[in-house]
Amino acid sequence: MKNRLFVMSAASGAGKTTLKDKVIQKFPDIRYSISATTRAPRAGEVDGVHYFFKTKEEFLKMIEDDALVEWNEVHGNFYGTPKSFVEETLAKGERVIFDIDVFGKVNFDKVYPDATGILILPPSSEELERRLRSRASDSEEVIKLRLENAEKEIDFAKNNGKYEYVIINDDLEKAAKELENILTLK
Ligand code: 5GP
Repeated sequence: MKNRLFVMSAASGAGKTTLKDKVIQKFPDIRYSISATTRAPRAGEVDGVHYFFKTKEEFLKMIEDDALVEWNEVHGNFYGTPKSFVEETLAKGERVIFDIDVFGKVNFDKVYPDATGILILPPSSEELERRLRSRASDSEEVIKLRLENAEKEIDFAKNNGKYEYVIINDDLEKAAKELENILTLK
């Protein structure tokens, strides 16, 4: 199972999505696992592409039906990894990349202990704040919550030993190359 499942985690604003989108197209055998969430879509986000947007009731039903590999409450919303997609993709011999928060990763590892953990860090807390503020769709309250949580998430991730790789996203090209090197391992 080694090098078949890749879990990317980052505090929001670390640039993980841009990085993933840039690199994943170079790997036709890697599929992105679309998470379910109760968060409202941001401008430009499409249901079934960026997330499966769910009501709280729908999400709780997924938990009850044991349809999620793991789930967690992040910044006041639920996020979870659908089970069927991972199983079907692995059965086809393809690989999967996930976006899972640092606490969710601990639960994910209980199911798939061999998954490769990749932690994406912003270059500094000032840069993180700048990036979060430039995402105009989030309210001041949401930005504050995300900033507060970012520090806790980063501390937890650095100390829990769940990440084989750490990428500091100060330069997109350089970070993309690092991610590419990790995904090339088979
Ligand atoms: P955002 O709302 O910025 O898209 O994502 C917020 C956080 O939710 C990020 O830290 C992201 O890694 C996390 N996240 C996204 N999908 C999942 C998931 O399926 N499970 C868990 N545990 N966290 C997720």
